[in-house]
Amino acid sequence: MGHLLVLLGMIGIPSAALAGPVAARDSGGEVRLLATGSADAFERATRGARAERQPSAGFRAKRPGKRYSVTVPIGKPRPSVTLPRIEGPADGRLPLVVIDAGHGGHDPGAISPHSGAREKDITLALARAIRADLLASGRVRVALTRADDRFLVLEERFGIARRLKADLFISVHADAAENREASGASVYTLSEVASDREAARLAARENKANIINGVDLGAHSGDVSSILLDLTQRETMNTASDFARLLQREAGEAVKFRTHAHRFASFVVLKAPDTPSVLFETGFISNKGDAEFLASPAGQKKLARGVRDAVQIHFARRIATR
Ligand SMILES: [Zn+2]
Repeated sequence: MGHLLVLLGMIGIPSAALAGPVAARDSGGEVRLLATGSADAFERATRGARAERQPSAGFRAKRPGKRYSVTVPIGKPRPSVTLPRIEGPADGRLPLVVIDAGHGGHDPGAISPHSGAREKDITLALARAIRADLLASGRVRVALTRADDRFLVLEERFGIARRLKADLFISVHADAAENREASGASVYTLSEVASDREAARLAARENKANIINGVDLGAHSGDVSSILLDLTQRETMNTASDFARLLQREAGEAVKFRTHAHRFASFVVLKAPDTPSVLFETGFISNKGDAEFLASPAGQKKLARGVRDAVQIHFARRIATR
């Protein structure tokens, strides 16, 4: 939890210079400002109104006086993201499925060139439809990473699943391609080596969701990639792959899938070491047919049913092999 230390030149710092660093987010939850100088001078500088810039030569020439520190709270660190409500039967033994509607808030995701529909709205509608069908089955508990139009960094998305101890994590997306003929759904699972170039490109694009104004909001996740070689992770990845195949099989009748529908790439959102996770690219909103299907309640219902059936079989199998 490193504090952001901002060393201020002492006396003559205009108040505007204080405003910038204070706004920066720090995982430690606070920003500490340090300054050297006399008490009187520092007080003047922080109040700002009477502060005057002094020649920097003067600053260097003076011996540092006492040290002062100002602690400015800037909100809680990342783990404080509010956990969503778990819906369904109040029975903790039932498997928990976390559905993640991709994108949201300032990140619209892909945009349909036909209807202007935004991926973030389509994914939310799909997540809700999937939740409704899973809850109707009465066999699983369900939580959504987001139930409205908000932004979450990728680590927060799988972080929610981990903190809720989810048994399955499904991130829902709807891609766009330059080739408007491209259509069909695919299911991605985690691998450090991408199955093909397109998968690698897609992962690079999806992973960009964390970057705002050039700042990577999820950059402190190095610990997760180092866990990747862990055996737990391998088992998790196998379980995810089993589910990916099942999803294609069960949803494949009602939803059009691509020829090689199960693909692999290094998606940040799939990196929970202990939660089987898949990224469901439900289709291409750059394709007219796919865009209409995914935006229609009937299409959403079909897709949700496929997910529900796959989820039920997945957990039935796991209970049977225990
Ligand atoms: Zn997406």
